[in-house]
Amino acid sequence: LTAEYFISGRGVIDGTGTDLQEGVGLLVRDGLIAGVGTAAELTGEGVPVIDAGDDVIIPGFIDSHTHITIRPGEGDQHAQMVKPKVWQTVRGVENLRLMIASGVTTARIMTEDGDIDLLYRDAIARGEIVGPRLRVSGRGLAPTGGHGSAAGGVDGPDALRTAVRDHAARGVDHIKIFTTGGVSSKRGSLADSAYTEEEIATIIEEAARHGLFVSTHAHGGLGAEYAIRHGIRSIEHGTMLTPEQLAEMVERGVFLVTNNTIRNHPKGIEQGDGADPFIMEKLREARAAGLRATELARASGVKMAVGTDSMHGFFGYELQWLVEHGWTPMQALVAATRTGAELMGIDDCGTLEAGKRADFVLLRRNPLEDIHAVYDIDAVYKEGVEIITPDELSRTPGAVSPKELAEL
Ligand SMILES: [Zn+2]
Repeated sequence: LTAEYFISGRGVIDGTGTDLQEGVGLLVRDGLIAGVGTAAELTGEGVPVIDAGDDVIIPGFIDSHTHITIRPGEGDQHAQMVKPKVWQTVRGVENLRLMIASGVTTARIMTEDGDIDLLYRDAIARGEIVGPRLRVSGRGLAPTGGHGSAAGGVDGPDALRTAVRDHAARGVDHIKIFTTGGVSSKRGSLADSAYTEEEIATIIEEAARHGLFVSTHAHGGLGAEYAIRHGIRSIEHGTMLTPEQLAEMVERGVFLVTNNTIRNHPKGIEQGDGADPFIMEKLREARAAGLRATELARASGVKMAVGTDSMHGFFGYELQWLVEHGWTPMQALVAATRTGAELMGIDDCGTLEAGKRADFVLLRRNPLEDIHAVYDIDAVYKEGVEIITPDELSRTPGAVSPKELAEL
């Protein structure tokens, strides 16, 4: 591992919305981007140069809504969420590897049980496990019997306030709540509010006291409306949002996180739960609603980020789907990079600019010409270290060899 190097291929797409900058590369120093420019501008004497051939360098993707342990294609996600922790742990390792192999260098985890997400976050940060940098919620807050309550519900302002304080004390990065029903379960309607307005307001107010944003699983209706009114950071899914609600989100700076892979990809909910006619019918409705919402969102100008919602390894499909439904490749790419970082309120990743972490992906083709290029990954770098190689091997950045261990 070299502390400093210059890497360049055909050019850089920096994630800010600027077009491909031909002939430009990155100067990487100690895991950070020290400069973006040409070799002539940035390489002093003795700086190693990595030739990335014709590859295009883009920012590492940000999966703004996913989970670690579940796989939608295997069905009944809520039952998966409460499987034995050993079972979940074993699957988490492979899911995390698939995420980073698809170019995701940062992922926002939107509910896990037993603090498994906090443990994975810290293990990845220490370099013990391969995976994206994680921002985690711990167990999401849902009312008893509601969607998202498989591991237990929390009810009433007092208990919710205590739960938020407990989450903050354990070190979560954000709070996740569920304020409407969902597509993949029979619990709750998609348009009523699962929590009272007072409960929602209490959660957001208490979280703010600890410097934490709150995001809600909400398809629309009152569950979205109360949350928007009381300072929610983002609406997750939002398939039934109205133009009026989207306009209010724009005015209040609320983000929308859309998840199209899990609903539309044949290996998502369809493969896992499609045999149940009730869920399949709900899924068909949600697909139509999701398409309408994505069109409305684009027209409204709401800040939109994307997440696969546990479709590990399928991140490229989020971009492909958006482009197939009217977004430009640039709009899709920015939603998948810069906007994800903005949503989390962090400024150290999401774009390729001096001072940011050196999280980047080498693509063999230009995704602005053909969005399918996002599947054509040559290598993935996180904090300047090549994690996924052109042979699709994964490296654990902090791994210690037996020889090194013996010498410690
Ligand atoms: Zn989710």
